[in-house]
Amino acid sequence: MKVIKIDKAEWTQAVEALRESFRLFGPVRQRDYANFKELATGETPELEIQNTRLSPKSLVFPQSETMMDYSLDKEDEEQGICKEAPKDYSPRAVLGLRPCDAKAMVLVHMNFDNGDYQDPYWLNLYNATTFVGLACDTPCRTCFCTTAGCGPYHEEGLDLLLSDQGDHYLAKVITDKGEALADKAGWTTDGDAKAMVDASAAAEGKITASIETDRLQALGTLDLHGADFWEDISFSCINCGTCTFVCPTCWCFDIQDEVYGKKGVRMRNWDSCMFPIFTVHTTGHNPRDTKLARLRQRFMHKLKYFVDKYDKGIMCVGCGRCVQQCPVNIDIRKVSQTMNSLDAENFCAVQGE
Ligand code: SF4
Ligand code: SF4
Repeated sequence: MKVIKIDKAEWTQAVEALRESFRLFGPVRQRDYANFKELATGETPELEIQNTRLSPKSLVFPQSETMMDYSLDKEDEEQGICKEAPKDYSPRAVLGLRPCDAKAMVLVHMNFDNGDYQDPYWLNLYNATTFVGLACDTPCRTCFCTTAGCGPYHEEGLDLLLSDQGDHYLAKVITDKGEALADKAGWTTDGDAKAMVDASAAAEGKITASIETDRLQALGTLDLHGADFWEDISFSCINCGTCTFVCPTCWCFDIQDEVYGKKGVRMRNWDSCMFPIFTVHTTGHNPRDTKLARLRQRFMHKLKYFVDKYDKGIMCVGCGRCVQQCPVNIDIRKVSQTMNSLDAENFCAVQGE
C-alpha cells in the first residue's frame, strides 16, 4: 500500500482544498475537553489531542436525529402521513479519528447492516464519509487497544492513516476512498513506508494496560449470568449511563414522536441499557428492574453475547473512555478479568448444593 509524505507547512492549505469536495469534521477543544465537530472555514482539526471525551460515533449516529416528520393540520391534504425528513448525505471526511474509534465503527456496522436488517440512517452517513485516521504515538494510560483486537496503528475502518513524524505526516493509503481524498488534497510525494512500520512497533510498545478475554467464549452463558460477583461489581454503580454515551461501540437508541402545534417529528435518541426505564414494558413490568441486572447486561453484551454471536472478539476496542469517566471507577478491564477467571465447575457445584 502507498505511503505519502505531507509537510506540516502545507497541511492547512490541503485541508482548505478538501473543503471543495467534503464537509469536514475533526477533533477540537471545547473548554477543558475535546470533541469531534464540523470544522468551520479556516478551522483545522487539533491533532495533538489524545482521546476526545465523546467518541466520533455521533458523526454517523447523531445523539438526536429526526427520522420522519408529519402534519397534524386538518386542512393539510397530507395530514398524518409520515415522510422521511430531509437529510444531507453529501460527501464528508473525518480528519484525525483514532484507530480504536474507526474499528468501533466496523463493530457497529455488524449491527446496523446485516442479513436481517439494514439501518438506512446509519448506513447513508457511514457510506458518505471518508475516514482519515491518526495513529496514536502517545497513548493514554487507560488505553488497552492491543488486547482488544485493535492497536495504535490499526487500519480496520480507515481509508487513510496519518502518522505524526515531527515536521511532516506520513499517510498510508488504505482504500480507494482514501486515495481519492489524497488526490483532492494534492498529496503526491512518496513517503518512507519503513518509518511508518517502525513507528507502529514503537507505539504498540507503549500500551501497557490490557484486558483478559481468552476464556470468555468457552465459559457458559448461564454460569456467567448467574455468578455472584455481579452484586459486588454493581454495588457502586449509579446508573448514570456515562459509560454507554462515551462508548464508541454502544449503539442503543429509543424512538419517540414529538409534536409541536400542528407538526410532528419522529426522533431517535441515544438510549442506555443502564437507565432504569430502558426496558420498561407498557404493562409497567421491567425485566431489568435492578441495577445489578442492568450492569450485568452491559458487560454480558460486550464481553459474552457479542463474542458468541459474531465470533469477532469483544464489543470493546480498548479506548478507555468508560474507565476514565465512570464516576465510581467501575473498570471494564477488572470486570472482564473477573468474568474471565470464573471457576465454572466450582460455581456449578455451589449452585447445585
Ligand atoms: S459510568 Fe459507571 S456509574 Fe455510570 S452507569 Fe456506567 S458503570 Fe454505572
Ligand atoms: S467499553 Fe469502554 S473501553 Fe471499551 S470501547 Fe467502550 S468506552 Fe472504550
